[in-house]
Amino acid sequence: MNTPDLSIVVPAYNEEHVLPSFVERIRDVLEKIGVSWEIVFANDGSRDSTAALLLQFHLTDPRIGFVSLSRNFGKEIALTAGLDHARGSAVVVIDADLQDPPELISEMMARFNEGFDVVYARRAKRVGETALKRVTASAFYRVINVLADRPIPRDVGDFRLLSRRALDALLQLREQHRFMKGLFSWVGFRQTEIVYTRAPRAAGSTKWNYWRLWNFSIEGITSFSIRPLQIASYFGFFVAILSVVYGSIFVFRTIVYGNPVAGYPSLLTIMLFLGGVQLISLGIIGEYIGRIFNETKNRPLYIVAERMISDTAP
Ligand code: UDP
Ligand code: MG
Repeated sequence: MNTPDLSIVVPAYNEEHVLPSFVERIRDVLEKIGVSWEIVFANDGSRDSTAALLLQFHLTDPRIGFVSLSRNFGKEIALTAGLDHARGSAVVVIDADLQDPPELISEMMARFNEGFDVVYARRAKRVGETALKRVTASAFYRVINVLADRPIPRDVGDFRLLSRRALDALLQLREQHRFMKGLFSWVGFRQTEIVYTRAPRAAGSTKWNYWRLWNFSIEGITSFSIRPLQIASYFGFFVAILSVVYGSIFVFRTIVYGNPVAGYPSLLTIMLFLGGVQLISLGIIGEYIGRIFNETKNRPLYIVAERMISDTAP
């Protein structure tokens, strides 16, 4: 079986409304670039007719393959499943919803041919996103870049090109908690960016809500930094010093002015404060222990239900 020059990896979860136009548009782009290509869809346990559509695509164009997971595993893992099956010398990761313009792929290929291993697309403007989403996104990047050991480029999604060696490096990272932006950054090599304007979703609806985004942020931070644990211990240290100072003031006051037993409110305040600090610290530790627990189970990342490998032979 020939290895294609370029593999396009597309995670898809309930994307029946957008897939036909996606395939049409990306095929146009790929034909214009003029390299041999394959498309690998990762069907993330879709419950609509996505699976049937993918089979249809494969039968009409064997360069389109897919891997169907046994259930919904989440975008990060679906993406990994797709990448595991990609055979190209370069791989582009793109969303199925046409928010990432496929036209950018030719520019990515140009950068790849200049010798870059990772070409990521940075969003210049976010069309169709609320002000709240923009503010929270910006806060997220600020926090994670203070905490994480590796820089995470801001406003960069998963839309990017990877060379074969960068992909092989990435695929060695088999952790369960997959914060892809961080993993992409971790592998290193020569990385560069191109800037584009992110379009609103073409059809269908986003699977993100604020609760999921919040959990995603915690995932990013805990996967790439143990700083929160250190912050907890420094904070404990700080509170301990404070209590010594406070205690000394009491001893001093009792010696100088006698002891008019008072201080019930201050006692209560301090108790509640310390209780809160302890619970927060325990919670932070818990976040990490939960992740250790998940990693030690050593389960496979995903289960394949069905796959159709693309065939790029002329
Ligand atoms: N996706 C997936 N599994 C999921 C959720 C999403 O494979 O559990 C895919 C989805 O089909 C799309 C991409 O991931 O191709 C991005 O999803 P979405 O558009 O919902 O996210 P957003 O663009 O809002 O970040
Ligand atoms: Mg989207």
